[in-house]
Amino acid sequence: MIPFVDLQAQYQKLKPEIDAALAEVLANSSFILGPQVAALENDFAAYCGAAHAAGVNSGTSALHLALLAAGVEPGDEVITTPMTFVATAAAICYIGAKPVFVDLDPKSYCIDPKNIEAAITNRTKVIMPVHLYGQPADMDPILEIAGRHGLSVIEDAAQAHGARYKGRRVGAIGKLGCFSFYPGKNLGAYGEGGIVITNDSEMVHTVKMLRDWGQEGKGNHVRLGYNYRLEGIQGAVVGVKLKHLEEWNRLRRAHAALYSELLADAACATPEVMDYAEHVFHVYAVRVQQREEVMQGLQQNDIACGVHYPKPVHLQPAFAYLGYHAGDFPHAEKAASEVLSLPMFPELTSEQIETVCSALKKAL
Ligand SMILES: *Cc1c(COP(=O)(O)O)cnc(C)c1O
Repeated sequence: MIPFVDLQAQYQKLKPEIDAALAEVLANSSFILGPQVAALENDFAAYCGAAHAAGVNSGTSALHLALLAAGVEPGDEVITTPMTFVATAAAICYIGAKPVFVDLDPKSYCIDPKNIEAAITNRTKVIMPVHLYGQPADMDPILEIAGRHGLSVIEDAAQAHGARYKGRRVGAIGKLGCFSFYPGKNLGAYGEGGIVITNDSEMVHTVKMLRDWGQEGKGNHVRLGYNYRLEGIQGAVVGVKLKHLEEWNRLRRAHAALYSELLADAACATPEVMDYAEHVFHVYAVRVQQREEVMQGLQQNDIACGVHYPKPVHLQPAFAYLGYHAGDFPHAEKAASEVLSLPMFPELTSEQIETVCSALKKAL
């Protein structure tokens, strides 16, 4: 059996470090925020090259609070991509703002900057690129457009911890960057978690205030806030794992290179790494015709696989009220019908990759 991700293998390797960090949280009862979360905020901000970070209880909460910190209000519009996890669009809707989708670049799978300008209206406040699968969006043209129109850029970096765009780590390139510590992400907690990073000291103050019930000083609630605090246990676990992230991302890139080499002659398209990018392969997605049959072929060989994502957000029933239709974003819709994610995790072996590739070729 080849799993899609293997969190057991990772824990077995880190057991002494993790167990010691957890014991410290238990000994101090630092269950909510506390020293482990503060240490993670410092370390993660430094790792990303950002001045500040605020730990929150999920990547979705990170997006929600980043949008609020950027001043998004009901009725405002946020330009983003339909080829993402629903959380990107849901966070916009939580505020009563409107996600405005534009089509992706079929090479990078990220928002195509060429489509953004036509979608800007006088209600647009934010552009929210998603670094899908661990590949950075093309940030320079996005920042240029945002600058010209007075918009903020918020990065959904939930799949791209440590990825680089022209040498700079994602998350700190726009005004705010949002990460998820969902267990299966490149940097995952032992439960839910997320973080917002920024270079703006006022914005990090706003995020920290909003995550803790909108308090300014104990008992003084100045704004409608949320219970979005990061737990001490999650801060401790992610703090330990952050020290291994570079090595894990290096292994993911090596696995991706081997997959692409072995699949060079297969009847499927392998992912492209953009010239500007250091990809971190949260997901290694090939493109196939007849996906159902190919997936069955893999499953018959005890190989797990996934689809990220089978239906773009503009075609999800929950977002039908936005008024989009099939055919609106042809690149996103075609990608959603063809992408197939193969097993990808740092502990994957070359033999396992060879097994996956020969089973895939047979299934094709
Ligand atoms: C995982 C993910 C999120 C949401 O993160 P949670 O921690 O699960 O709330 C948001 N955006 C993208 C692109 C994601 O992959």
